Amino acid sequence: MSGQKTNEKSGEGEDWLLPEENRDHLRGLFAEMREPLSLEVFTKDGQNDSYNEAVVRFMRDLDRLGDKVKVLFHKIGEGRAEKLKVFRSPTILIEPDKYPIRYTGAPLGEEARTFIGTIMLVSRGVSGLSELSLALLSSLDETRHVRVFVSPACPYCPGQAANALKAAIARPGLVSAEVVETGENRELTVKYQAHSVPLTVINETFRQKGFYPEERFILELVGLKPSEELIGKAKAEAGIGEETTEVDVVVVGAGPSGLTAAMYAERSGLKAVVLEKGVVGGQVALTPEVENYPGFKRIGGIQLMELIAGQARQYCQVREGEEVREVKINERIEAVTDRAAYKAKALILATGAASRKLGVPGEKKFFGRGVSVCASCDGWNYKDKNVIMIGGGNTALTEALYLKNIGVNVTVVHRRDSFRAEERLQESLAREGVPALMNTVVKEFIGHETGLTSVRLEDVNTGEQKEMPVSGAFVAIGWIPNSKLAAGIGVKLDEAGYIAADRSMRTNVPRVYACGDVIGGVRQIVTAVGGGATAAVSLFEDISNPYWRK
Ligand code: NAP
Repeated sequence: MSGQKTNEKSGEGEDWLLPEENRDHLRGLFAEMREPLSLEVFTKDGQNDSYNEAVVRFMRDLDRLGDKVKVLFHKIGEGRAEKLKVFRSPTILIEPDKYPIRYTGAPLGEEARTFIGTIMLVSRGVSGLSELSLALLSSLDETRHVRVFVSPACPYCPGQAANALKAAIARPGLVSAEVVETGENRELTVKYQAHSVPLTVINETFRQKGFYPEERFILELVGLKPSEELIGKAKAEAGIGEETTEVDVVVVGAGPSGLTAAMYAERSGLKAVVLEKGVVGGQVALTPEVENYPGFKRIGGIQLMELIAGQARQYCQVREGEEVREVKINERIEAVTDRAAYKAKALILATGAASRKLGVPGEKKFFGRGVSVCASCDGWNYKDKNVIMIGGGNTALTEALYLKNIGVNVTVVHRRDSFRAEERLQESLAREGVPALMNTVVKEFIGHETGLTSVRLEDVNTGEQKEMPVSGAFVAIGWIPNSKLAAGIGVKLDEAGYIAADRSMRTNVPRVYACGDVIGGVRQIVTAVGGGATAAVSLFEDISNPYWRK
């Protein structure tokens, strides 16, 4: 196929892949492009045909949206593919004569946004990296090839892919970035044991599991060694001073509760900032389908969180990849992160909860190599394979249904004779024919170097044990509150470790409020957003009329 452009008019009668709303949005974006750029698409018939077709249609749409993006189509095995060493179908290169940026696989689902973001950065010739990241990257004097393994429904993947892509834009002579879709590239996935995404492999050996804050990613990219605590030092060495931002309220955590709290605070006239160590969304972003949030009969967890986050961003800054490491309570409350310090009149803790572990042999060893806590991130790797889902609550059943839906052979393993999950989910599980092993616990995860191969199960009534061959095991046995930061400033916790907050979401520490899953209770999205609103309203009242001074 040639790269001949089709103008919008001649494309009118043609079949568009992108809905009209998305086309209008992209037209607006492309109109802002500084330089035109070329995208080169490589395909081979018989290799990932359905993805080839999707990529070709997507790229054809981009090509028809204006004059700034030119798409060239090539066949693998022909001259251009050989010259650029492209062997996997589909592959997309962005402005390959200037930048070593490659998408191995179709940038669909969550990855589409990063892809478009990268096009925009390349066209402007800027990396989008922070001042500190650029300073750190300037010391790099050898080559780095970064492969980021991703999947279309993984909420953490776009952030990590963006880290690598931005580094390649900033130092194209030394850093090359490749985003690999695991579902379309089984051989690479197995070779690099990328069963949990995002997984980043730098120069074939150095590995990062999960999404990293940008500066930490860059530090490790340069040093090729783990660098958890070194960002403050790096900042001092780069001569970048501590930045202090004055706000009225710092919200820690960008799940539904924290984002709602920030929105309500801003609407009361208070200046808020939301600090999130990972990406927006909390647990909801990992939930494949939400069916009990009023107003939406059914909505994907990521989509719901995008709507909430988009609304919050209209009011205040939501800073992702920024972990609050320390809180100091003085006349002002100070929250310190790796990037900056924030001084505020009040603090809202919406830090959520982390997934609980089983604590049996092999769980840690095979985590990321068969054992997972995120079905929407990693489920794609197990199509047509046998996996178990451990747990009997709403999460376990929702995720089991999702896996079944994408073609994974899933069996639920639950320790009791009845599920805790709501009736509707139990009915769906039965209707979909998902088998369940009741009164059964996992005693051990078993495997070899390449990953998990089986689990040892025990019948809790008879004590009988058996080995069950599986390729994957998803653990969904509840959550542990993220209350360490709270405990560090003297906030009272209950016996299960949840923050003790009253009906107004006040904690025992004046000017500190808590909401969402970190305070326990029924832990629903609706209660989380309600708690966020309550916390913001209470602190607004307290700031003008401090109850602790009465
Ligand atoms: P959960 O309700 O606490 O359920 C945890 C499940 O794991 C229970 O079935 C529990 O068994 C089992 N379990 C706990 N420790 C275990 C261990 N050591 N070994 C084996 N099994 C163990 O947690 P969740 O399902 O994550 O739900 C948390 C909250 O989020 C709930 O309030 C839920 O309603 C909410 N949620 C809502 C939705 C939705 O609305 N669609 C979706 C997901 C989550 P037992 O039953 O025997 O205790």
